Amino acid sequence: ISATIIMSKLPNVTTSIFTVMSKMASEYNAINLSQGFPNFPVDGRLTDIIAKLAKENVHQYTPMAGYPPLMNQIANLVQKSYNRIIIPETEILVTAGATQGIFTSILALVKAGDEVVILDPSYDSYESPVLLCNAKPVRVTLNDDYTPNWETIEKACSSKTKMIIVNNPHNPTGKILTESDFLHLEKLLSKYPDIIVLSDEVYEYITFEEKHISAHTKNFLLDRCIMISSFGKSFHITGWKIGYTVAPEHLMKEIKKVHQFLVFSVNSISQAAISQYLDVVDVNLLGKFYQEKRDYFQKLLQNSRFELKPCEGTYFQVASYANISNDDDVTFCKKLITDHGVAAIPISTFYSDHKDQKLIRFCFAKDDFTLESAAKKLCNI
Ligand code: PMP
Ligand code: GLN
Repeated sequence: ISATIIMSKLPNVTTSIFTVMSKMASEYNAINLSQGFPNFPVDGRLTDIIAKLAKENVHQYTPMAGYPPLMNQIANLVQKSYNRIIIPETEILVTAGATQGIFTSILALVKAGDEVVILDPSYDSYESPVLLCNAKPVRVTLNDDYTPNWETIEKACSSKTKMIIVNNPHNPTGKILTESDFLHLEKLLSKYPDIIVLSDEVYEYITFEEKHISAHTKNFLLDRCIMISSFGKSFHITGWKIGYTVAPEHLMKEIKKVHQFLVFSVNSISQAAISQYLDVVDVNLLGKFYQEKRDYFQKLLQNSRFELKPCEGTYFQVASYANISNDDDVTFCKKLITDHGVAAIPISTFYSDHKDQKLIRFCFAKDDFTLESAAKKLCNI
């Protein structure tokens, strides 16, 4: 039997670190603070809505770009949160999670030979769609304190640059962009007016002392920015895989062309459920909710040998284990599971050069008991 020989389109892609660590955590029965998902119950109002909807007529295709009542609710949410008026019919797309919004937008807009600037450490969903377009990912490292280095970003840009991908609040570092960052971005875009900004804001409602500054609020971005949001992150329902993308009509027209053949329409019952839930839920409570978790987790680890880095947003805490071990971070995370019963994510996997800095990421979107049990183990190391 001879197998067909294929040339991989993504020869360097392996199983995602989130899958690897979650699988290993379950094999060794470790407490899973690796992959980012909450382990506490979903809001009862949402589960009641979905139970009721199961018996109603919401089981057939919705219109391609989204269920109209949900599109209107998204427009209301964006207006309430950011004072931006968007037109549901032309500027919103409901997606199967933020992942699909990112992939679809890149596929629709980036051409062979284009360059796309990605800021490292970076989430794993950005590079592969760029490569599938036969375009070039240009990975630029953030400063040591995870602020963007606008000088190196500008140096990385040229007439070939089609897109800059920004993730704010930032996974894995928990850093958020400042007004000064947006001024630098505005200056950069005045030099390169054709660059499209893809702003991944899936943690938009999870910030703490400092307020999140959304690309939605910046006039200079409105005609060239694609906004990526995730209901999975905002409503503790990562498994539902539902989110939305907002873009000006000329970009959205192209994005919808790809969506039409990639997905056509996102599952109807979750769209209907979220459109009703948006009447009762208050997204502004999310920051306080996760700030309490962050503070509690930090307090629990206060006497450990881990050194905790600042966390301004998201539900991730970066920690240095330099005082504990000389192992590289991937080895350290594996031993953390096998020898100590806690799973985390090695930060080197977010860099193109896999630079080891003895840093790991914990997810604190967990119930108190889980955080306490994990902290007990981590304090014994
Ligand atoms: N972007 C970032 C920065 C993420 O951390 C994640 C993971 N939740 C996603 C996108 C993907 O979100 P979703 O599960 O809605 O596809
Ligand atoms: N966004 C999640 C994280 O950063 C992972 C989601 C996934 O496994 N694809 O942990």
